[in-house]
Amino acid sequence: MKAIAVFPGKPGSVHLADLPKPSLDEISNGRGVLVKVLRVGVDGTDKEINAAEYGAAPPGYDFLVIGHEGFGQVEAVGPNVVEVKPGDYVVATVRRPGHSIYDLIGTNDMTTDDVYYERGINLRHGFLTEYYVDDAEYIVKIPQGLREVGVLLEPTTVVEKGIAQAYEIQRRLKVWHPRRAAVMGAGTIGLLATLALRLRGLQVTTFALNQKPNPNADLIEQLGATYESTRDVAILEGAKKYGPFDMIFEATGNSGVVFQSMQALGKNGVLVLSSVTGGDHMVQVPADKINLQFVLGNKVMVGTVNANREYFEAGVRDMAQAEAEYPGWLSKLLTHRVKGLQNFNELFEKLTSGNGAIKVYCEVAAFADANVQSSKQAAA
Ligand code: BGC
Ligand code: ZN
Repeated sequence: MKAIAVFPGKPGSVHLADLPKPSLDEISNGRGVLVKVLRVGVDGTDKEINAAEYGAAPPGYDFLVIGHEGFGQVEAVGPNVVEVKPGDYVVATVRRPGHSIYDLIGTNDMTTDDVYYERGINLRHGFLTEYYVDDAEYIVKIPQGLREVGVLLEPTTVVEKGIAQAYEIQRRLKVWHPRRAAVMGAGTIGLLATLALRLRGLQVTTFALNQKPNPNADLIEQLGATYESTRDVAILEGAKKYGPFDMIFEATGNSGVVFQSMQALGKNGVLVLSSVTGGDHMVQVPADKINLQFVLGNKVMVGTVNANREYFEAGVRDMAQAEAEYPGWLSKLLTHRVKGLQNFNELFEKLTSGNGAIKVYCEVAAFADANVQSSKQAAA
């Protein structure tokens, strides 16, 4: 079976690999789920892995099958699986447990281990292949009505975790009525964070570089949020105009924005950091001022990475609510489709060229009823 893989440590090594089809008995206790892969999204992490800045092969392999934003259909299940059945649409979580206390209680996204296992990223093969098998524990069911957008679940979970953590932290305030939020960045994560905060009833201002008009700004405005280009309104000015911000979700990929966000945050506010910044960018900041405002304003800042099953389930609920409240909005994020694993070069070209892409994904296989549907359409 085909798979898209890299040789970790070798820049630009993306290639087509060949693997045996996995089987249910690779998973113990009859808890295996065999999944036929339908769609897999790619993001900045895949870009970094192919640039050899990140990622490691599983033990015993010199290559790593990439792809961590999966979506597929169950083909077969072991005798002790009751949660899903053949034909169900599913998404698998990314991280697998290590050894810390957090891993032992199912919150491996909070691991304190130095070594972590992530499918398609670190030490475990990913989903850019034809089939995968995993324990039912890591398989999340997607309702039929969300199948067109199911490939967006994994990026959504990053947002779900960040926001859930923020609310959890703010229980320190006994009463917390967040009204105004800012989102830094209008890429896939910034768009999904704006959505999730709008679904929770907050007034949202999303800051990004590009001036209007642009498709991402339109998407933000379709949610009833405000889009501001930082070329027109600097973040601190924006905080005066639209704040005080009770919450800020940072997703620009630029660590300098973090320090501006710290200054834009309102009293008692919470700042969520989600940018994985692999570089060594330096900035000069008004440290006394930032510290003083943080201390006098009882502010909090929290980092967030990955997501466990709980946030995948929350993501499914939010995506369903999004389809009800903003019908068709999620599917507009699926801007670039590449058909077939063999077109991995095109997949990476689309991912790296930018070109107005929001979500680039590989259609590994079409929906089983796709031909039936298109011939029906042709007949109609
Ligand atoms: C993935 C996360 C992962 C993180 C760090 C992100 O692109 O979406 O699941 O934890 O990279 O490897
Ligand atoms: Zn990712």
